[in-house]
Amino acid sequence: MIAISHAHAAEPPRKVDRSSHPEDTVIDLGGGVKIGGGHFQVIAGPCSVEGENLLDIAARCKTAGATLLRGGAYKPRTSPYDRQGLGERGLDLLVEARAQTGMPIVSEVMDTRDVELFVDRGIDVMQIGTRNAQNFALLKEVGRTKTPILLKRGMAGTLEELLMAAEYIMSEGNDKVILCERGIRTFETATRNTFDLSAIPALHDFTHLPVAADPSHATGCARYVGPMALAACAAGADALEIEVHDDPASAWSDGPQALTCDEFDAMMDQIRSIRSAIFGPRDEDARP
Ligand code: PEP
Ligand code: MN
Repeated sequence: MIAISHAHAAEPPRKVDRSSHPEDTVIDLGGGVKIGGGHFQVIAGPCSVEGENLLDIAARCKTAGATLLRGGAYKPRTSPYDRQGLGERGLDLLVEARAQTGMPIVSEVMDTRDVELFVDRGIDVMQIGTRNAQNFALLKEVGRTKTPILLKRGMAGTLEELLMAAEYIMSEGNDKVILCERGIRTFETATRNTFDLSAIPALHDFTHLPVAADPSHATGCARYVGPMALAACAAGADALEIEVHDDPASAWSDGPQALTCDEFDAMMDQIRSIRSAIFGPRDEDARP
């Protein structure tokens, strides 16, 4: 009689788990910009790169204390008839803004066919958006690069699914992954999403990777962005991603959740206060 064994081959240890790497991972973007292990950064900028106004927004964000610039050149819009982004021209504008401000740039890549372009243009951080959080072909493709990745939580994704998405990237050789809580879809409709604040300490428990928070997409409402940004800092976020626009009413996308440059400036004062109250006065990051 042949004995049938149900034993599976032992799974390899997961690279994402804190047990495989007890110390916090610190991602170094150069120029003194590090994320994780006590280094805190603020990523700010418009939802979509729209044109030359990016350069003014970038300058204002930098003066306020942002340390990375964000902007979407390829936009995942719910309707195919909404503006889809400037594409390569958007990347060029981000590169120009980086040259003017010195801030590393973050932009979303949506298609495996565009990854090489992002690498060639030297985009400092490639963002994987919530809608692609389980696009395994894309996760593997960015995993074959050396570019740091800002990996957003799927809008209906569990923390375990987020960790496994990061594992896809890491399993291909790229261990520079920043996780990002950006709100999840729940029965509540008063806010765009429900900000899962507890994801921040929970992820720090499960993984050594840095944990960012995006209160802009989590709430969908500019008035709630500041309070949730402060809460995320208090909960131990290693980075914030905040949408900022010089004229939110005319923004191509996500205007209702965009802070004006003045509002962002005021919020940054509060962020510095809360970080110094909780983590002590030696908070050198996120200062202009
Ligand atoms: C964005 O950052 O503009 C964005 C589309 O984010 P998310 O994928 O979290 O919705
Ligand atoms: Mn947006």
